Amino acid sequence: MQEALERLDRADLLRRAVEVASPCGPRMTVEGRQVTCLCTNDYLSLAGDPVVRAAVVAAVEKWGVGAGASRLISGTTGLHAQLERRLAEFKGAPAAVVTSTGWMANRVAIGALAGPGDLILCDKLSHASIIDAALCSGARTRTFAHGNTARLEALLRRHRARARRCLIATDSLFSMDGDLAPLGELVELKKRYDAQVLIDEAHATGVLGRMGRGAAELLGVEGGIDATAGTLSKALGALGGFVTGPEVLVETIRNTGRAFIYTTAPPALLCAAVLAGLDIVADQPHRRKHVLELAEQLRVRLHAAGLKTGNSVSQIVPVMIGPAAEALRVSRELFDRGLFVPAIRPPTVPHGTSRLRVSLCAGHSGDDVARMADALSEIVA
Ligand code: PMP
Repeated sequence: MQEALERLDRADLLRRAVEVASPCGPRMTVEGRQVTCLCTNDYLSLAGDPVVRAAVVAAVEKWGVGAGASRLISGTTGLHAQLERRLAEFKGAPAAVVTSTGWMANRVAIGALAGPGDLILCDKLSHASIIDAALCSGARTRTFAHGNTARLEALLRRHRARARRCLIATDSLFSMDGDLAPLGELVELKKRYDAQVLIDEAHATGVLGRMGRGAAELLGVEGGIDATAGTLSKALGALGGFVTGPEVLVETIRNTGRAFIYTTAPPALLCAAVLAGLDIVADQPHRRKHVLELAEQLRVRLHAAGLKTGNSVSQIVPVMIGPAAEALRVSRELFDRGLFVPAIRPPTVPHGTSRLRVSLCAGHSGDDVARMADALSEIVA
């Protein structure tokens, strides 16, 4: 282990957690400094929202802290049931199930939709929780080049006939690139090859689409998606995950999803936080509009300075650097100027594509964007 860690260090790939001394938000205290934070997934700035906090305090007064047992023993409160109904309604799906994390949501959804004898085809840049869930499912798993539906079709042609069921699984909005999966084409292919599509709307939920339902809403393909996994920890500002889809999927997860059954229920206070957050998503569409406008302003400024942001079309704006050491240098220099964006390095992203993953939140301003763009154009040679 020691040798392996030293190798990581020599390759500029060793990681450490920075300790923060303030709640998550656009301004934070990090290593004793007041900084503007441009790296969280708290896209709607709900994690510290006063209304959400008040809902949590009230829930703690009523329900206490820990759930004390798993969902199927005594860990399901009225708030869990209410949140599941609300998530189903929000996503326009027949049913929903809440899990302890988004990671577990992918695990149980993929485990229900595919197993031994089945085939799973994943976009190569899918989140680790999709890839791991596919590998754990026992289904034959193949990845296709990022967003490349021709490669996906080649895999379908080659492997589909030998599999019982086939699942196409992908992030809808990619976490490190801020680009969208070609959902319309995936839906066409699944129809032609008798497959199902699962999308992970972790980064899109609450942000994309007219009602904030996600990328499937934005791209007008909700009717063609068989199952959706998501998280309550990003735009919804709390912690936990969910799966929406047909009753039979949710019932299967409740009965066979090991990561749902054999873990302690998320506490009621989290359900209260998310219910309050969903009210804000419904009542304050300007939050998602603002964050997407800021992202567009940032891309325009960065492109004018000759910097590359890949295919980003969302609140996630990667500033492509390349070598890990260079990404670390840029991140350190940004920090010296009061801008907090850690470097993203392999294995989170492919080798040679280290980057600064800038993420915008509703609490940011046009000034924050201007400062970030100016600093980056000076620092990145
Ligand atoms: N899916 C995607 C695309 C993610 O980015 C993440 C978190 N980084 C997850 C799932 C896991 O969600 P959670 O943090 O709630 O476990």
